[in-house]
Amino acid sequence: MIVVACIKQVPDTTQVQIDPVTNTLVRDGIPFIINPYDSHALEESLRLKDSHGFKAVALSMGPPNAEAMLRKALALGADRSVLLSDRVFGGADTLSTSNVLSAAIAKLREDEEVGIVFCGKQTIDGDTAQVGPGIAVRLGFSQLTLVDRIEKIDLVERTITVRRKLEGRYEIVEARLPAMITVVRELNRPRYPTVPMRLASAKAEVEVWSNEQLRLDVNSVGLKGSPTWVSRIFSPERKEGEIVGDGMNDPAGAARLLLERLIEGDMLAV
Ligand SMILES: Cc1cc2nc3c(=O)[nH]c(=O)nc-3n(C[C@H](O)[C@H](O)[C@H](O)COP(=O)(O)OP(=O)(O)OC[C@H]3O[C@@H](n4cnc5c(N)ncnc54)[C@H](O)[C@@H]3O)c2cc1C
Repeated sequence: MIVVACIKQVPDTTQVQIDPVTNTLVRDGIPFIINPYDSHALEESLRLKDSHGFKAVALSMGPPNAEAMLRKALALGADRSVLLSDRVFGGADTLSTSNVLSAAIAKLREDEEVGIVFCGKQTIDGDTAQVGPGIAVRLGFSQLTLVDRIEKIDLVERTITVRRKLEGRYEIVEARLPAMITVVRELNRPRYPTVPMRLASAKAEVEVWSNEQLRLDVNSVGLKGSPTWVSRIFSPERKEGEIVGDGMNDPAGAARLLLERLIEGDMLAV
């Protein structure tokens, strides 16, 4: 049974700049990293390989230079790394990204059953958290988001039990396999590659699939298959007169400050 980790290459956000004319990221000369949440998705897929004998596949849609990230996944222990790269995939919004990733997972399923797909909870550039659920819906997989612990996997009953980390509470959920799981950082601590594995991965093959392999309608992928687009990106302006209180260390003081300012500003009827 296969476990897939969807991993996306993202710009190192401390250095991101936006082109004010085109409203797109300035990518020239910017270092790229694996989306931090996706490191945890990859790590969990490798743990399932070790504990349950899953075959671990790392999957990414991106430009040719994403190959380096996928090679690192091989160095960490993935059995296969697949890069989905084709000009027709370029300019994709989240819907068309989900289409392409789902088609690739469906193709993997032609050879062997896919039991689990791990995604990060969200990326640090697009930040939408839509792609994982988009994959689950397209493939008809159970959808388990914000997971911080795998409680149990029962391959006989074909069920999985996970803990979801919600605001102020946890939720234990059991679901049918196959499942798509989005993960949070608390799930695990990603491993480092050993020197022998790093050396072996230098020669290992990162498979590159274009639309020739996936055979998707070109109108359903890339820019053509994207019903949404970014019309403007901007940093919100700092407004004058904001109220800053230390709600973490002094919640009562912060509440008092807020109340005083609301009364002062005649914004509250008392
Ligand atoms: C309206 C809109 C228009 C856009 N237009 C463009 C554009 O013109 N050109 C462009 O380059 N980008 C564009 N993007 C960005 C592009 O859509 C996103 O990079 C992509 O859809 C993933 O969305 P996200 O980053 O929000 O992922 P999220 O939904 O936040 O990601 C969740 C998880 O899904 C998985 N995942 C997401 N993307 C990938 C991937 N590519 N490969 C493998 N796993 C993945 C990861 O596990 C990730 O942690 C656009 C985004 C939006 C919202």
